[in-house]
Amino acid sequence: MNKTSRIISQVRDEGRKLLLEPEAKAICLEYGIPVTEFKLAKNPEETVIFAEQIGFPVVLKIVSADIVHKSDAGGVVLDLKNEAEVLSAHHKIIENAKKYSPTAKVIGVLVQEMAPQSTEIIVGTIKDTQFGQTVMFGLGGIFVELLDDVAFRIAPIEREDAQEMITRVRAYPLLRGYRNTPPADIPAIVDVLLNASKLVMDYPDIKELDLNPIMTYEKGLKTVDARIILE
Ligand code: ADP
Ligand code: MG
Repeated sequence: MNKTSRIISQVRDEGRKLLLEPEAKAICLEYGIPVTEFKLAKNPEETVIFAEQIGFPVVLKIVSADIVHKSDAGGVVLDLKNEAEVLSAHHKIIENAKKYSPTAKVIGVLVQEMAPQSTEIIVGTIKDTQFGQTVMFGLGGIFVELLDDVAFRIAPIEREDAQEMITRVRAYPLLRGYRNTPPADIPAIVDVLLNASKLVMDYPDIKELDLNPIMTYEKGLKTVDARIILE
């Protein structure tokens, strides 16, 4: 069995529907979707060791199947520059999680590289009751949330569909670069859309995939948060 099947069947065995961020990111990697380097720490000592291995600055995040929106729970701390900052952030995140949801089962703390700020995009899929697996694309933040500036295509999609989805959103000019912002790697975005489409075609029991956000660069891109929900 491949890694994705193994992860999904383990999640099923545990009676869960929400994949943890490290599980979702491991699946992304198997499908050729770049993600920030990450390691799951079980205690403060491990958090520090992993931070040093990954290299500063790092990001820490709470890992719990009971916490869907990590920042709402005070469960994300960015840009930690040294061991002392990492240690105190570790304790703070656990404390915040306990406050937010006293019954939440905390699996650990995800240590990851801090991806440089850039133009953020969102790639997602939803399983439409009528059309089945559908791929979504938009730019991060206000463009999707406030302006509803998104493109949808029914999966499976071809390279041409992916290209069209990208150029179709109104915010597209931002990806071509402006002022001090370099252009984004459009072929890399096309690949993410194609790979996301392939993933949900291979696993029809994926109800929702949410790569939000993905940082785009002149060369390549990096998914900083990945969520997968099963039916
Ligand atoms: P949530 O569960 O709240 O969506 P995220 O993992 O998306 O949590 O983190 C919240 C925000 O923090 C992201 O939208 C992104 O702007 C920033 N962020 C998260 N991880 C990283 C990272 N590895 N590098 C840089 N920024 C990050
Ligand atoms: Mg997120």
